Amino acid sequence: MKRYRLREEMNGIDEPPGKVWFWELAAGVIDADRCIQCGTCVAACPSNSIGISEDRGLPELVKMCTGCSLCWDFCPRGGLRYEALWPPSTAAGDEGPEVVRSDASDPYWKITGGPPAEGLGAVVERYAVRSATRTDGVQDGGAVSALLIALLASGDIDGALVAKPSSDPEEPWKGVATVARTPAEVLEASGSFYNQTMALAELDLGRYQLGPNPRLAVVGTPCEVQGIRAMQARRWATGAHRVDSVVLTIALMCTKSFDYEGLILRELKDKRRVDLDRVAKIDVIDGKMIVEYRDGQLAVNEPIKNFHHTALKGCDECADFLGRSADISMGSVGSLSGWTSVLIRSERGLAAFERARPRLDVRALDDPDALVRLDKLDKRIAFRSLERPFDPDGPLFVDYEEHVRHYEASERRAVVSLR
Ligand SMILES: Cc1cc2nc3c(=O)[nH]c(=O)nc-3n(C[C@H](O)[C@H](O)[C@H](O)COP(=O)(O)OP(=O)(O)OC[C@H]3O[C@@H](n4cnc5c(N)ncnc54)[C@H](O)[C@@H]3O)c2cc1C
Ligand code: SF4
Ligand code: SF4
Repeated sequence: MKRYRLREEMNGIDEPPGKVWFWELAAGVIDADRCIQCGTCVAACPSNSIGISEDRGLPELVKMCTGCSLCWDFCPRGGLRYEALWPPSTAAGDEGPEVVRSDASDPYWKITGGPPAEGLGAVVERYAVRSATRTDGVQDGGAVSALLIALLASGDIDGALVAKPSSDPEEPWKGVATVARTPAEVLEASGSFYNQTMALAELDLGRYQLGPNPRLAVVGTPCEVQGIRAMQARRWATGAHRVDSVVLTIALMCTKSFDYEGLILRELKDKRRVDLDRVAKIDVIDGKMIVEYRDGQLAVNEPIKNFHHTALKGCDECADFLGRSADISMGSVGSLSGWTSVLIRSERGLAAFERARPRLDVRALDDPDALVRLDKLDKRIAFRSLERPFDPDGPLFVDYEEHVRHYEASERRAVVSLR
């Protein structure tokens, strides 16, 4: 029939070079148990073809894939896997794998936010901070929540992508992605959830009635901020546009996240009989898993290594504890208990911090070296994860040489050049 003529004429034409399909992302990352559930692929897909599977909570194809390659390009475990490319400069030096050397001579340093890439990375100002108003439910100093509330009050943002507790009674202590639009919603979402939320998928903002051209702050793990920064730096007008609403990125310093069922339901609830309804706070600090009840009793106080088998496997490959591509990085390490360590990395971050300053107690960062030490440990673990022997039938690119060969040949490597 006439209307099929074009299709018939196309039969036998070779696929254009460089196309990457969703199923290649699925094979290399999702089914290979390397997905860190950031949601970048969902946000990057221009045809809304990627959804989240109900049973596994992982990306899945819900419509036809056009082979546009963007899900692969921006996936922090796919084309954007810059962490895996940190070690070459380390390995090339004489120092050996124990010494991390990542500086401006490294061609791949750019996504880190610019030089200096060693130490704490690019930092404009650094502090220990807590909210001037004491608030229940915050993780450390409540600095993240106080900052967001100040920016909402000043009208600098219309909402903030954060994680709130799941409303499903079968999912206690599970964080789910949400856009908080009021101070009350920000406070409802305070504290840390040690699961990933496919956060960037939530940047499909239709359900939030934010009006035209909304301005959002995003609070996320460093891998999520990497996805945003890379998509914002794209060099074409269409596709991956959902991140255009993001005007501020706040990275929560992070060495690993966990599988919700594995950590909360199996290890805490079933094995250790933790009463999750009584829990006030779950924390990973000083190499320990701490679970505290509302009456102050410690339900769990154990070495974190007892829980390592429930961590996301893809986190082993991550070398970005400090959230180097964010406007502001915040964490607990480096400050006294009850304070948040704050690294302001950009002028935009500084302007936001200044806006919130009247609502904050601010003093010098207690122990910046503690942050540097943990960052180096994080990178050493990432380096070791690349030393696994290459299994041709196993996950793609776990072999380092193979990965670099593929990456060097890729026409899309330009997406990591952020500046
Ligand atoms: C998975 C994970 C691992 C972490 N690991 C470390 C670490 O190794 N070392 C360290 O120093 N700090 C780590 N942190 C950061 C730390 O737990 C605190 O979030 C940080 O110090 C800010 O504290 P606060 O009191 O200022 O934040 P709060 O005022 O309590 O606000 C916290 C904000 O983070 C949001 N949030 C919570 N969980 C998530 C999530 N899973 N994804 C996205 N947003 C979320 C909340 O919605 C809220 O807006 C980690 C955080 C997470 C979520
Ligand atoms: S790591 Fe992120 S971008 Fe990659 S497949 Fe998983 S959710 Fe998608
Ligand atoms: S360890 Fe790295 S990859 Fe894993 S959640 Fe944290 S920032 Fe993401």
